[in-house]
Amino acid sequence: MVTTGEKPGKGTYQCKSCGQRVVLDDTTDTMPPCPKCEKTEFHKIN
Ligand SMILES: [Zn+2]
Repeated sequence: MVTTGEKPGKGTYQCKSCGQRVVLDDTTDTMPPCPKCEKTEFHKIN
């Protein structure tokens, strides 16, 4: 699981709450809160 504020690396992450996908395209990107529901837990899907 990935939470907001971590730097999980490049990839596509899906909000555990609403299913919204968030793409991080740089290893230094910080996981934001979900842009749709503002929850903070995601799992990596790609
Ligand atoms: Zn969400």
